[in-house]
Amino acid sequence: MLLEELVEYFGSIGERRFRAEQVFRWLHGGARAFGEMTNLPSALRENLETEFQISAPALAKKQESRLDGTIKYLWGVQGGAVESVVMEYGHGNTVCISTQVGCRMGCAFCASAIGGLVRNLAASEMLDQVWHSQLDSGKRLSNVVLMGIGEPLDNYENVLRFLRLVTHPLGMNIGARHITVSTCGLVEKIDKLADCDIQFTLTASLHAPDDETRSRLMPINRDGGVDGLLDACARYFARTGRRVSYEYAMIDGVNDTDRHAGLLAGKLRGSGSHVNLIPLSDVPERPLRGSGPERVSVFCELLREKGVNCTVRRSLGRDITASCGQLRRREL
Ligand code: SAH
Repeated sequence: MLLEELVEYFGSIGERRFRAEQVFRWLHGGARAFGEMTNLPSALRENLETEFQISAPALAKKQESRLDGTIKYLWGVQGGAVESVVMEYGHGNTVCISTQVGCRMGCAFCASAIGGLVRNLAASEMLDQVWHSQLDSGKRLSNVVLMGIGEPLDNYENVLRFLRLVTHPLGMNIGARHITVSTCGLVEKIDKLADCDIQFTLTASLHAPDDETRSRLMPINRDGGVDGLLDACARYFARTGRRVSYEYAMIDGVNDTDRHAGLLAGKLRGSGSHVNLIPLSDVPERPLRGSGPERVSVFCELLREKGVNCTVRRSLGRDITASCGQLRRREL
């Protein structure tokens, strides 16, 4: 519940605002039962105990990378399982969380798409992933990325509710600027997001500069194509002053040729946008393979020469099937 909703509830049972704030602080500080909330009168604690439930995900599996300390969690939730990943970066620890059980976007390279969408996660289930990843790993998490299983903008209302909760000053208080939402490109929702008052970072999974290649990889491209997505991102920047960055998973022989680099530079030149390149992680069920390191750096150089900002991302957790949906897939 949002703080305002708690305030309303407490008002309805004749309690004052500060009680709602106390409960909010406890919940976001990791209380697992109302009985722990020692500054509440015991009658109120008992009442809350019967009216509400504090959820917690069941840890189904945990894997730690020996290469780089990356930790992957598989959480059992109603209807299946979702993954979260904790990664260590110079700028702090980041947790990558899931937003749906499964996904209905159908991207050809993605393990999460296999089996389709089961259901949307509630905001509390996204918060649980952040909170329990921090609790279990013992690492203070300063950054959150919505790049796990699912399409965040396909679960728009719950994702926004989650963002309001995780950034709340009385809660985990994670700075909005330390949160990244990744989308495969739901154009209408990007336009809707432009009116949202939270300052998080938006990134779009582009993966190809031309409709022929992108439609092959991502069915969503049939709604408006590459230009439709880039236009929406430009409108988003114009409205919010925040630039959208692009993810580009490099796939051997599919989207990684010099011709693709040229087309991409042609589309992005002058936009000030940043491209993150990462070789595709192999998904056994998929026939596509990641580009070699040599190809990735040549592609990056070509983009830079043509005036496009570009970074090659390190692949973390290679030894623990850490990419989107892989662990869940294997466990299924
Ligand atoms: N649905 C959202 C967020 C989840 S996926 C989106 O599409 O952006 C997070 C990122 O991982 C996306 O850029 C997605 O395209 C990418 N991805 C999916 N499968 C991958 C794989 N096998 N290798 C590398 N990146 C992958």
